[in-house]
Amino acid sequence: MWVVYALFKKMSTVIFVKSADFQLPYFCGIMSITVVSQDCYPTKETGNPYMLNWTELESACRSCQKCALCETRHNVVFGEGNRDAEVMFIGEGPGEQEDLTGHPFVGRAGQFLDDMLSIIDLDRSQYFIGNVVKCRPPQNRDPLNVEMDACIGYLRNQVALIRPKIIVCLGRIAATRLIREDFKITKEHGQWFDRAGVHMMAIYHPSALLRDPRKRPESFEDLKKLQAKIREVCTHTG
Ligand code: SF4
Repeated sequence: MWVVYALFKKMSTVIFVKSADFQLPYFCGIMSITVVSQDCYPTKETGNPYMLNWTELESACRSCQKCALCETRHNVVFGEGNRDAEVMFIGEGPGEQEDLTGHPFVGRAGQFLDDMLSIIDLDRSQYFIGNVVKCRPPQNRDPLNVEMDACIGYLRNQVALIRPKIIVCLGRIAATRLIREDFKITKEHGQWFDRAGVHMMAIYHPSALLRDPRKRPESFEDLKKLQAKIREVCTHTG
C-alpha cells in the first residue's frame, strides 16, 4: 500500500512510501533532514522505489545544478571508498584540493586523517568517505543551510546504498546536520548516538586538529572508542 509519508513546509516535496520495501530508517531516520530530493525516483536495480543505484546517483550528482555552489566548483566531489563499507566518514564539504582533484580529503587535512585512522588499522579500502555538500563552498566557508538542503539527498542515497553500521561525522557542521541540530562538538565528540540502528559519533575535523594540536589527545581517545565499536559490531572492517 502506498502512503504519503511527509509533506513539508515550503512544500516542494511529498515522499510516497511503499511500506513493504522502503528502507525508511536509512533514508529518513538517521538524518534530521527537512527536504527529500525528488531525484530519488524508482529504479529496478536497487529494488527500492525511491533510491537511485550508484550509476544513476553519481551521474545525477556530477551534473547537479541544484544550488549556487555549482557555479564556482571545478569538480563535484562525489565521495569514494568501499561501497560495501561498514563505516562511513562524513565531513561538511570539499576544500580547495578536493575541488581541484574531485577526490575527498586529499589535502593536508585528508593526509592527517589518513594518518590518524592508520593508528586503528583503517585505510581507505575499508570505508567510504564523503561530505554533506558535494561542491566546495567558496573560501572554505561553512555550507549554507540552503546548500545542505539541496545536497543532502545525495548523501542520504549513498547511506541507503551502503547501509553502514557506523557513521563518523568529521567536525561540528556534519554533526549538527546528521546527529542533532544543537550538537556541541567540544562536549559531545567521542560519544555514541543511535540513529535508527546506526551507531553515530562525531570527532573533531582533521583541519581543527591541524590548527589546534592540543585537541589531538582527545581525538586519540575517540579513535580508540571507534576501534572498540568496530570490533563490537563490524564483521569485515579493521
Ligand atoms: S553542492 Fe550538491 S546540490 Fe549544490 S550543486 Fe553541488 S551537488 Fe548540487
